[in-house]
Amino acid sequence: MEKSRFLIGKSFKELLQCINAVPAGIAFIEDENQKLIGVFTDGDFRRALLNGVELNQEFKHDHLNEEFVYAMKGEDIQNLIKKTSKKVRIIPIVNESQNIIDYFRYEHKTHFTPVAEPSLKGNELEYVTDAVLSTWISSSGKYIGEFEDSFSNFCGSKYGVAVSNGTVAIHLALKALGIGSGDEVIIPNLTFAATANAVIHSNAVPVIVDVELDSWCINPDQIVKAITNKTKAIIPVHLYGQPCDMEKIMEIAKEHNLFVIEDAAEAHGATFEDKKVGSWGHISCFSFFANKIITTGEGGMCLTNSKTLNEKMRVLRDHGMDKKKKYWHEVVGFNYRMTNIQAAIGCAQMERIDGIIESRNKLEQEYKKMLSSFFDWQKKFVDRDKVVWLVCGVCKIDKKTLISEAKNNQIDIRPFFYPLSEMSIYKKYVFGKVDNSVKISKVGVNLPTVPNVDFEKLISICESIK
Ligand SMILES: *Cc1c(COP(=O)(O)O)cnc(C)c1O
Repeated sequence: MEKSRFLIGKSFKELLQCINAVPAGIAFIEDENQKLIGVFTDGDFRRALLNGVELNQEFKHDHLNEEFVYAMKGEDIQNLIKKTSKKVRIIPIVNESQNIIDYFRYEHKTHFTPVAEPSLKGNELEYVTDAVLSTWISSSGKYIGEFEDSFSNFCGSKYGVAVSNGTVAIHLALKALGIGSGDEVIIPNLTFAATANAVIHSNAVPVIVDVELDSWCINPDQIVKAITNKTKAIIPVHLYGQPCDMEKIMEIAKEHNLFVIEDAAEAHGATFEDKKVGSWGHISCFSFFANKIITTGEGGMCLTNSKTLNEKMRVLRDHGMDKKKKYWHEVVGFNYRMTNIQAAIGCAQMERIDGIIESRNKLEQEYKKMLSSFFDWQKKFVDRDKVVWLVCGVCKIDKKTLISEAKNNQIDIRPFFYPLSEMSIYKKYVFGKVDNSVKISKVGVNLPTVPNVDFEKLISICESIK
């Protein structure tokens, strides 16, 4: 920053050297008392040259921009971001005496509308900074326990075990329940492939069954039909924020002595009969990938009400190392730990989780209001309080054209997951008919679930297709 400071009265050549000294391409102009009186960018310099200034000419007050943006020491980050724009990307920060002490740089995104985007507007940066400054950047540090406690509390579950991502959460759950070679695990045909992969990596056999046509979630009747004497567990997936019929599934599990591992990676905060998803099964698994309802960048968590399972998962997460005797291993474990930096983001997200869920809900309402002539929507059941992961539209217009037209307009609309049954690596695990999954997947899209959706643009795209 020192190199970017320029004393008024020196030559344009010296000013150019100053601008050129830093990648940001800006000079902070000071008077004799080191008070900041303006800024000059490489763009300003080009314009000055076109206006006929000479390099050996003196840079004077009347060369300065009349107005420039700056910030005072101590202004919070939201304020700083607000002061920037696509044009003003760098703003100087001054102290009480108007001396420049630092600068702030922010790149506003182009008008591309992604399908999802994390909201990191709370204490995320502050807590991450705190974690870094504390030097506890691996998997010890205060944020891990805090995040585990606040998230498990939020879900109404006794224990939370934070892990590196949602996929290993499922793997850890399977391992902690002793599921392995030869065991069968029933999963839905419509899900993100991680559900199936975790089962396969446990050397168990996924048994893929169809979903219900109305909820898009695993069909309990199909579960019953698929049960054999090798079946050990069911993994219901709360797809796109929709809770599975947990009452029926828990009943089936009890009757057949099976474990239930909830894949709640897409449903933080959803409830079935007023009880949060993630608190029903023997273990439940969440993901905190950047596009999920709350995020830690990469991350996941296993929840359980069982003290034994909690302890087992903690040992397995940490190389299988004995909790009392360092470097002593009684089981073959994994390194599935979450870092304190990730957990710091998680803690900040937990402070805002209710608001995040609420605003996603509102966005879906908005979609329903604006785009119902082109889409049907994910069903709302009276006894299930779904959350919005990604807004789901069931196309009444041609899906392929919609996706490609949206792409041409810089809007990311995604097709639903392909049914596992359509991919050759999973085909052999399919049980029975899976017509519903195929049908739903064909017509479903995920619409941008981000603030500031340009509904007018979307409507005009849809209208032109119609
Ligand atoms: C995202 C997701 C996962 C995997 O989570 P990662 O954190 O990406 O590993 C698992 N299951 C479902 C249903 C998901 O949507």
